[in-house]
Amino acid sequence: KMKELEHLRDLPAVTTDGTRISLRANIGLVSDIKIATANGAEGVGLYRTEFPYMARTSFPNRHEQAQLYQKILEGFPDQPVNIRTLDIGGDKGLPYFEHPHEDNPFLGWRSIRFSLDEQHIFREQLAGILLAAPAGCATIMFPLISCPDEIRRIKSIMHAVVAELQADGLTVCGDLPLGIMVELPAAVQIIDLLAPEVDYLSIGTNDLIQYTLAADRNNPKVKEYYDPYHPAVLHSIKRVADEGRRLGRRVSICGEMAADPLNTLLLIGMGIREFSLSAPGIPLVKKAIRQHSLRQCQAFARKVLSYNSVGAIKAYIQKKRELFE
Ligand code: PEP
Ligand code: MG
Repeated sequence: KMKELEHLRDLPAVTTDGTRISLRANIGLVSDIKIATANGAEGVGLYRTEFPYMARTSFPNRHEQAQLYQKILEGFPDQPVNIRTLDIGGDKGLPYFEHPHEDNPFLGWRSIRFSLDEQHIFREQLAGILLAAPAGCATIMFPLISCPDEIRRIKSIMHAVVAELQADGLTVCGDLPLGIMVELPAAVQIIDLLAPEVDYLSIGTNDLIQYTLAADRNNPKVKEYYDPYHPAVLHSIKRVADEGRRLGRRVSICGEMAADPLNTLLLIGMGIREFSLSAPGIPLVKKAIRQHSLRQCQAFARKVLSYNSVGAIKAYIQKKRELFE
């Protein structure tokens, strides 16, 4: 079994009828580089930068961040590393920042909202990323985007940081690819307005499920409501995949949902070609991809999307799962 998975590491993720799928890793720490490489990840689809922030006693400055990001970039020579800006708040806090009390933290001051308000912290992070960028193929992604106005504000802050670094005599790449996470129902509804503003989209199913179904992703009491197979979730993903294709923007999926091989087949059938997942899950997902055709995935997805009740979808998925395992 180990041997088989090791063998898979160096094989491409391609369907039996030749559709190439990209499998990247979700990482948070430098130590994840080794795990990603060992499992054959083709770069990083989601680098959660809040983890290094959380493991400190004060905000890191731009140089400390640049040093760290450089290490990550150097871990993936010639492969893209998608750096997501600070995504704290909700359930993630920083020991050195007193977050105001909130009755509904997941509906509150989190993620890009924090960054846009605490601009000195945001600018320091963007500077760190820009300084590290020459060490590899960096792209920058912004979480919890709800409207194009946020993207425009982000871009203007980016330009200011680039200008500041250039004024310091540094040569910085001013046009790194920029992407957003699609993880709010609002973003799905106006995906045609958001996509043209950026280079790529990445669907965060962990939050998209939570917000679409109003079911806390960490609350076991509502686990049944937190359902990746709810048609509202599936149709949202389909819509983003379709609009991404129509508007010429790459769409990936970086939520936990994609780490289940059967789900990956379903999502491929819905038009997704890029995934980012926790690295140990990559070999099994790749194995499933290599055993199925795009046509099979599409038939599977068509069938699932045709049902009009959650129960029917789940029963069908369950049947598939038994055949699959
Ligand atoms: C997501 O929301 O699906 C996601 C990938 O981001 P995080 O789990 O870090 O919120
Ligand atoms: Mg998220």
